[in-house]
Amino acid sequence: MAAEFITILSMNGGQIVNRLSEHDMENLSILRNVSAEAVSDVLGNCPVLNLKKGEILLREKQLNQSLYLILAGSLSVYLEYPGSDPVAMLDQGETVGELSVIDDSPTSAYVVAREESRVLEIDETSFWRLTSVSHAFACNMLLLLSDRMRSSDEIILKNIRLRRRFERDAMVDALTGMHNRRWLDLQLPRLINRHLRNDKPLSLIMFDVDNFKSFNDKYGHDAGDDVLMHVARTTLFSLRPTDLSARFGGEEFVVMLAGIDMDLAWIVAERLRKSIESEVLVTQDGMNLPSVTVSLGIAEIREGDTAELIVKRADTAMYKAKNSGRNRTCREG
Ligand code: GH3
Ligand code: MG
Ligand code: MG
Repeated sequence: MAAEFITILSMNGGQIVNRLSEHDMENLSILRNVSAEAVSDVLGNCPVLNLKKGEILLREKQLNQSLYLILAGSLSVYLEYPGSDPVAMLDQGETVGELSVIDDSPTSAYVVAREESRVLEIDETSFWRLTSVSHAFACNMLLLLSDRMRSSDEIILKNIRLRRRFERDAMVDALTGMHNRRWLDLQLPRLINRHLRNDKPLSLIMFDVDNFKSFNDKYGHDAGDDVLMHVARTTLFSLRPTDLSARFGGEEFVVMLAGIDMDLAWIVAERLRKSIESEVLVTQDGMNLPSVTVSLGIAEIREGDTAELIVKRADTAMYKAKNSGRNRTCREG
């Protein structure tokens, strides 16, 4: 790189303006393979700005007509306001503002100096001149933009995965790993409609751990949590893969048996009740606990049914089981 245009300080209308130094040039990947002769007049006229820590270089939605090249220091990019969580950090050699220069759009974020920094300001006219006088500069710019796009793609992919995880977490009960009430509220109406339309039976079992309050009082809430995890696991193991289950809330659970009428559902419910009753309970710390029992209520879909109605009928049947001595299954009606 020829030194002819590299004056560190020059006089500009009486003001001292920083210019690009030779040292700066060597460290800039955007100038890799760029012939000094081709770009010297343009770059020689571009000012170098000294930013103090916290100084705002660009504001959101501002009309911007310059690309800034970081010569030293680093910048933070904020989407909401300076001081919020930064979405990106830009280091020496990176650029900012290029998109608004290329497509004339307003800036999309705040850009703030993370520390004392020096940036080269290349205005729009100089930018287009550089791309036309130096093929190497244009190629370097393309490389830089494709790097930027690649890292944006990675961020997008990461966000998609994160969103899926949030969506899944929102449908899953944290304690038992079963589907939760929100999932049930979404799935049950669809399931009912489908089965009514196809004239297929669908049964719903609602069950609740017996005397769970006194269990908690006697053995503690953590032991109670362990019991709920056991009950959930036993439920999942007792069912076929096509059967669906969810934690309805507290110590109440729901099982949906697709294609199963009330008679068959009663057999499934009794099998489940016996499995839970005979389960040997051991806490996570290895302490033995007495087994628990559950009371179950069954209902089957009928013409004109809704999720609310069938849940209500199964719930009423379950309370019948509670009132007639617990640890048993009752049908609706
Ligand atoms: P019943 O046989 O009539 O159902 O009596 P119960 O004691 O089980 O019913 P009640 O509704 O009086 O009490 C339910 C208890 O379940 C009270 C509550 O503390 C406990 N419970 C609800 N959710 C959880 C949980 O996530 N963990 C634990 N450990 N306990 C829970
Ligand atoms: Mg209970
Ligand atoms: Mg209950």
